[in-house]
Amino acid sequence: MSESRSPLFEAFAKEGIVRRDLLLETLRERGIQEDDPRLKQFIKSLNGGSQEISESQFQILADQNPTLMKQISEDDLIVPDFKSFIQEISAIFDEVNQIRLGKLPTYIPQLERVDPDKFAVAVCTIDGQRFATGDSEDYFCVQSCSKPITYCLALEEQGEEIVHSYVGREPSGKTFNELTLNAKGLPHNPMINAGAIMCGALIKKGGAPSDRFDYVMEKWKQAAGGQKIGFNNAVYLSERQTADRNFALGYFMREKKAFPLDSELLDVLEFYFQCCSIETTTKSMAIIAATLANGGICPLTGNQIFRPDHVKNCLSLMLSCGMYDFSGEFAFSVGIPAKSGVSGAIMLAIPGVGGITVWSPLLDELGNSVRGVEFCKRLVSRFRFHTFDNMLGQGDNRIDPRRCKK
Ligand code: GLN
Repeated sequence: MSESRSPLFEAFAKEGIVRRDLLLETLRERGIQEDDPRLKQFIKSLNGGSQEISESQFQILADQNPTLMKQISEDDLIVPDFKSFIQEISAIFDEVNQIRLGKLPTYIPQLERVDPDKFAVAVCTIDGQRFATGDSEDYFCVQSCSKPITYCLALEEQGEEIVHSYVGREPSGKTFNELTLNAKGLPHNPMINAGAIMCGALIKKGGAPSDRFDYVMEKWKQAAGGQKIGFNNAVYLSERQTADRNFALGYFMREKKAFPLDSELLDVLEFYFQCCSIETTTKSMAIIAATLANGGICPLTGNQIFRPDHVKNCLSLMLSCGMYDFSGEFAFSVGIPAKSGVSGAIMLAIPGVGGITVWSPLLDELGNSVRGVEFCKRLVSRFRFHTFDNMLGQGDNRIDPRRCKK
């Protein structure tokens, strides 16, 4: 028997051999899923090979993704005890699942037709450890959860200075579609309708509407690590037909000469309706949230989708303005950058840890998912995820699932 086995092989081997099923189980336990784009070739080779893997075969496999394999073997993923972590998340899911309060939104007819009992939670860490429970593969339209992405895309293209010469960064203190602008005649911030309509006008200005839409869809897909992103045409049509308020906002901004010079109001509004009608699953949205939590790098591909300084801006505004009229209260008591949509989704980005998405269509009177908000409250009652929890030090006995700094 060889005396000088590599530590990596040793970490996965039992009695001098690595077994394929046990290897896959170890990956799964750490939250690394078989459809992980980083492991495409690895899984292919693994499935094409034998059940028992020798050291030399293992080395060839591991060399396809040395960083990830090393992280796994050294328990160096951001949430080392992923199993306990998801047990807690599942427990919160089960508790919150009992709640049957709230109403479906009525102002966009298609949203009123969704099954009100749907409920899903999905997690993706900044190291790409994933977990999902409930109806996590159902597609829903993203609605206002599109706003952080639209804002990031406007920043990528125009930069902070130009973007914020067209839109403020102050909470409005009003509902998301309130007919109001700030003292300069600009939208208060990019997380409400007027601000998102404005940010949309800054993306691929002057481009054909079809190209602009393709571009946004492609960016969504990249942020989701290549997962399929859909579009709900019925929601789009329904949204467009019942959009008096958004048209009013558009005309109000045009009257104030708030738009960039060459903007076509109708195109700008249609683009906004299209962004709201993008469809995704809870699972995919958690990856997008993780891309934000990871400074703009998608954890599953390692690709930089958004610049870190733009993500910093986006998370700041999610924290102060992301939860409609509940934003201040949410920042105080939950303290995680978040964005909700009237389809019942809440996207949470826990900086340096990962993304969590909750989807449950029944809404409270402010337009936030009832179960979603309750989930978030319970999440921070168990975990040290509030942005300022590090102030508490020793006396805080809630869980911090992050790996200890080496
Ligand atoms: N499409 C919706 C609207 O413009 C989005 C609102 C939301 O999710 N809050 O009214």
